[in-house]
Amino acid sequence: MHEESLVRSLLHQVEELARQHHATEVEDIEVEIGPLSGVESLLVQEAFERLKDGCKWPNCTLTITPVGLMVFCNQCSEESELFDFQFICTHCGSTSLRILSGDAFRLLNVRMQIESAG
Ligand SMILES: [Zn+2]
Repeated sequence: MHEESLVRSLLHQVEELARQHHATEVEDIEVEIGPLSGVESLLVQEAFERLKDGCKWPNCTLTITPVGLMVFCNQCSEESELFDFQFICTHCGSTSLRILSGDAFRLLNVRMQIESAG
């Protein structure tokens, strides 16, 4: 499953971070899911619940932050937030747009406990 492999690599990424920071515990993992990412929040949550039992921190939680679909207009240089997947600038009606956010599934933040020195 698509979401399961995403969560699997996410956990690997977090494991790597935790190792680098000598974390004793990972408490929360925050990810961003955009409407164009092709990733279902619900399926990510489910996959996380399934996979976290096998990881080093079975008590950690997953926070999913939904992000809007933001675009930059090449015509009028304004930014718009699109809601209905119609790729039209809300300022001038141009369809020459560049996606600023909303097409990604990515790690935003990891809250962990770091071993105190001494
Ligand atoms: Zn425009």
